[in-house]
Formats: sequence, structure tokens, C-alpha cells
Amino acid sequence: MSFILAIDGTSGSGKTTTARKVAESLGWFYLDTGATYRAVAYEVLKKGKDPENVSEVIQVLKDLELAMKNTKRGQRTYVNGEDVTNYLRTDEIDKSVTPISKTKAVREWLVGFQREIARNRNIVVEGRDIGTVVFPYANLKIFMDADLSVRAKRRKKQKRNTKHVEQVKKDLKLRDYHDSKRKESPLRRAPDALLLDTTSLSIKEQVDWVIRRIKQLNESTIPI
Ligand code: C5P
Repeated sequence: MSFILAIDGTSGSGKTTTARKVAESLGWFYLDTGATYRAVAYEVLKKGKDPENVSEVIQVLKDLELAMKNTKRGQRTYVNGEDVTNYLRTDEIDKSVTPISKTKAVREWLVGFQREIARNRNIVVEGRDIGTVVFPYANLKIFMDADLSVRAKRRKKQKRNTKHVEQVKKDLKLRDYHDSKRKESPLRRAPDALLLDTTSLSIKEQVDWVIRRIKQLNESTIPI
């Protein structure tokens, strides 16, 4: 019996850290699907293609080999055999991942890839469309959110970037806007997802909250 925990939510709501820590503490596989979209963006830029040009992006997909590994240093992302993890969180990729994630062919390709990874294992999958599109039958769905100013402060600290916090706030707002308004798999809470507002929670509190929900479910229905 395998268990799929789907975590979706807004940028900077704490999804990545929470998902990773929950997976670590349960000994489950962890999949950050944002990294899969970033990996496509990385390859598109590396090949000098235009992220806004759908046929150029599709061309890149044809030669793309992607692999996600869980290691002691967290999830590592491989593009055509190269570990690109350290190059995925740049401002350039932040910008180009938005048009890329709107492309239907990219989404179909990546959803197939993500489902393949989750086959027959206990897994925590984190993203924007996990509970709605990728795993609509997930055993547990959680939607995370927090006040925009709190999310901007966290992002600024995390990226140690030189941008003013107001700019980080604007960037986050714009990314959430595009993610929620796009035609293909927009960011939205699945009707059966539990809401976790992390505005005033510590990471430990978030992680404990999620693990408690899994255990409750486990006690009532599913043997893990
Ligand atoms: O979570 P992260 O910030 O790394 O995601 C980067 C971008 O990838 C998001 O802004 C979103 O456009 C896209 N994404 C998506 N669907 C997912 C995960 C990420 O469209 N499941």
C-alpha cells in the first residue's frame, strides 16, 4: 500500500521546506515539482531558446532527459545527466519558468514524469496542481498559504537576495497571479484539500501539523 500526500500552495508559503521535512521524518520519497518546471526552463535558456516561443520549448522537450534523486543534501535535479540543482533558483529562471509552465505540452510531459516517479511508493509531492490534476486521488491533500508580506520576508531571507522586500513582494504577487490565472492547470485549492495557513506558524509547527493529519488518517483508514 502506498500513500500520496499532495501539497499545493502559493509561492513562499512554506511548501518546499514542509514537504521535505515531512518526507524526511517519515522516510518517504520527496518530489518538488517546481524543480521539474525549473529544469525545463534551465534547458530552454541553456540552448538559447525563447521561453515564450511554444515550438522552441517543445523542441527542447524532445531531447530532454530528466531525473530527480533524493539525497542527504535534499532533492537533486539532473538534466541530461548533469546535476543542475544549484542553477535552478536564479532570477532568470524565476522569470522564464512562468511562460514555460503555461505551455500545455510541457505540463503533459511533466505530469507523466511526476506520476511515473510516484508509482508504488510512499511520497510527498509538492507543487501547484498536485491535488487538482497530477494526483486527484491523493490520500491526503493540503493547500498552504500565508500573508503576502510574511511570504515576501521569508523569500528574501531564503534567497539572501539584494532586492528590496517590496520588490520581492511584487514578484511573488505577479507569479501567484500568473499561476492562478493561467488556462492550463491553474493554482487553486482542490475542494477536498485541507487549508494550512502558515502566517504565524514555525516550520516545526507546520511539519507537526501535517504529520498529525497523516497519522489521524492512518489510524482511521489506511495502513502505512
Ligand atoms: O515551486 P517553485 O517556485 O519552484 O515553482 C516554480 C514555478 O513552476 C511556479 O511559479 C509555477 O509557475 C510552476 N509550477 C507549476 N506547477 C507545479 C509546480 C510549479 O506550474 N506543480
